[in-house]
Amino acid sequence: MDFLFTMPEKRVLFGGGVFSRLKDEIEKLGCAAPLVLSTSSKRSGEKIQSVLAPLNYELYDGARMHVPAESVEEAFAFMEGRSFDCLVAVGGGSSIGLAKALALRTGLPIVAVPTTYAGSEMTPIWGITEGGVKTTGRDDRALPKVVLYDPELYASLPASVAGVSAMNALAHCVEALYAENANPVSDLFAEEGIRLIVGNLTSSLTGPYKSEAIECVLRGAWMGGMVLAMTTMGLHHKLCHTLGGSLGLPHAETHAIMLPHVIAFNSEYAGAAMRKIARGFGTTTPKEAAGRAYAMLSGVGAKNVLKDLGMRFEDIEKVADLAARNKYSNPRPFTAGKLVPLLENAYRGKAPE
Ligand code: NAD
Repeated sequence: MDFLFTMPEKRVLFGGGVFSRLKDEIEKLGCAAPLVLSTSSKRSGEKIQSVLAPLNYELYDGARMHVPAESVEEAFAFMEGRSFDCLVAVGGGSSIGLAKALALRTGLPIVAVPTTYAGSEMTPIWGITEGGVKTTGRDDRALPKVVLYDPELYASLPASVAGVSAMNALAHCVEALYAENANPVSDLFAEEGIRLIVGNLTSSLTGPYKSEAIECVLRGAWMGGMVLAMTTMGLHHKLCHTLGGSLGLPHAETHAIMLPHVIAFNSEYAGAAMRKIARGFGTTTPKEAAGRAYAMLSGVGAKNVLKDLGMRFEDIEKVADLAARNKYSNPRPFTAGKLVPLLENAYRGKAPE
């Protein structure tokens, strides 16, 4: 296996209560005037106030899903005339995504405090949606310098968000294993990420061992974020970006529905990677892994029908065409025509084939 391995410099703090170290981490960067970004939530505003009160910070809570270009303009206008020296994203991929878009414009460093399992905090990948098309790219300015993973912040995450968000992390691990630029480290993280998420997700949502299980799922999601950064994702991510960007479908819910279908679609290709995927899921074949991913949807109370997310039947061909338009690596070669039956199954919520 030939490979290229790089590890950008960044600090990751993981543990119950590390959120209380946010002010220290900002000061370690030499900063004192943060702009804090989040999606609107009174609760998170109060928590932020409790740890950042001594600093000269401002909270902007207008982050929105898929980072619409207008939301970046609005946030940029909010920054005008004030002198911030860093961006602090507290929230899921939407808050972190807005911080990334602003970092590209301003060059300010980002400190991320994730509160979902999306993994964006570990990557230099940015995305902005304009005119129904989501454009993504990689830029080191978008890579957070410091990440604080505090499992205690996840206690308030509703099961309806947590379950699908963890399946988003699972998708990063699955596609990293068959990525053309996988390396021995990404392979280890990805398989372990699958094992941690599959083994602990249900108990992380309810039950007596919830907090221990949240820690395990969060560790898996961190690994998912790392392998997302190290490798190039395939068909699954392309389809989900197309569904999100062109139809406005919600990010994590779409990932959760699509994952079993894409594992099944690729199951007879990339044999070695597929064996690792199956092992991570605790199954013996990739088809069984697809079945387990499909069963997880009802296990975590997620929808399994794209129609229920607002997709129309007539959108299927448009999405297949858009997703097949550019060449990118995927174990199984495909054309738009090959994607139609896969999308039809997901649209109707049928078991993966
Ligand atoms: P999100 O950030 O929109 O959060 C989902 C919902 O959960 C929001 O309503 C939010 O307010 C709420 N929420 C978040 N944390 C909470 C908590 N602890 N308690 C209560 N409510 C909470 O969704 P997401 O799935 O985290 O992120 C999706 C976005 O991230 C998409 O735009 C996607 O493209 C992007 N993303 C980017 C990358 C990358 O590497 N660039 C990776 C993954 C996702």
